Amino acid sequence: MALIVQKYGGTSVGTPEKIEAVAEKITRMHGEGHQLVVVVSAMSGETNRLLELSAAVHEQPSAREMDVLLSTGEQVTIALLSMALQKRAVEARSYTGQQVHILTNNVHGKARIQKIEADRVQKDLAQGRVVVIAGFQGVDSEGNITTLGRGGSDTTAVAMAAALKADECQIYTDVDGVYTTDPRIVPEAHRLDRITVEEMLEMSSLGTKVLQIRSVEFAGKYKVPLRVLSAFEEGPGTLITYEEKEMEQAQISGIAFNRDEAKLTILGVPDQPGVAFNILGAIADAEVNVDMIVQNVGEDGTTNFTFTVHRSDFKQAQTILQKLARELKAREVSGDDKIVKISVVGVGMRSHAGVASTMFKALADEGINIQMISTSEIKVSVVVDEKYLELGVRALHAAFELDQAVEK
Ligand code: ASP
Ligand code: MG
Repeated sequence: MALIVQKYGGTSVGTPEKIEAVAEKITRMHGEGHQLVVVVSAMSGETNRLLELSAAVHEQPSAREMDVLLSTGEQVTIALLSMALQKRAVEARSYTGQQVHILTNNVHGKARIQKIEADRVQKDLAQGRVVVIAGFQGVDSEGNITTLGRGGSDTTAVAMAAALKADECQIYTDVDGVYTTDPRIVPEAHRLDRITVEEMLEMSSLGTKVLQIRSVEFAGKYKVPLRVLSAFEEGPGTLITYEEKEMEQAQISGIAFNRDEAKLTILGVPDQPGVAFNILGAIADAEVNVDMIVQNVGEDGTTNFTFTVHRSDFKQAQTILQKLARELKAREVSGDDKIVKISVVGVGMRSHAGVASTMFKALADEGINIQMISTSEIKVSVVVDEKYLELGVRALHAAFELDQAVEK
């Protein structure tokens, strides 16, 4: 018998039939003697529908009222799922985030969980009830409803699991685990049995959107045993681990990519102290996140400075840079919003030399020009023209022998 926190995403509870199927599964597991806490998202499409409704009423609705609105999606699902469980003679109780007292800070729209009072849930569990909790929402210290950001139900589930010291947190979704890369691009991609939390963080932040990144950070902090698995098919899913596999660690666990990148270069800036600060300070003041940064070797007292931003911030960053270029007496500003980032990720990289050269050779063999490079302890990323995304990801997946990797 185990205490398990399960989370079902929007697609898993998207219709009454799917809610019934989820209820069947929960009934079965409850019958096996497990204690279950179930966190659910809004039915698929519902959060977007609510967003559209608000847009029709107000161009810039207040963040507080947005949270009141968006939190209703999950409230519908908890009630329906509890009814479906009760129909199966399972004693179930639904609670909103506010009711179970998921206390957050007051940053509406992306609130952070500060504390969970698990007593109420524990009492229900002790009486054999299944507890159904609305994901994505909480309450601030003044009683205002807050939400945790898109995909936030994952974080609710992980936080509940941490608070209850659950044996496992299971995230049920429409894929059966974490893959070596996107199977829509590489049909040979395969499900990983395990992935370390560090790799998972890289894979999520680089665009392999299986879990909300904050939930992975949370899991890492509290070492929550976390598993991603399919709501529709039986299978072991992917376990997120906190220890690196010791023996025969593959160099690379996966190939991640990010389509929505853009790069900007300011050419011929005076090569003097404070230049990087001047440029990036102005960009940061505009709340634009910068990812890769490259400064070239100075020549004739000037240098070129290149960085990447999210594609949606490209125009704004370009305008800022053009203004700066005049102030700094730089030669010119150039930009490209048709680039992508591809990364190879793996903790095994720490103990294997030559990952970067294997990567660069594979790209060269396909005639793909690398525009920028950055590395960390467990990843190597390159920026390439967006037309090479699919080709590049396939070439790297094959070069690191992920196509035929055998699970242990
Ligand atoms: N319903 C929210 C969303 O779409 C939260 C979630 O599904 O995790 O983002
Ligand atoms: Mg999700």
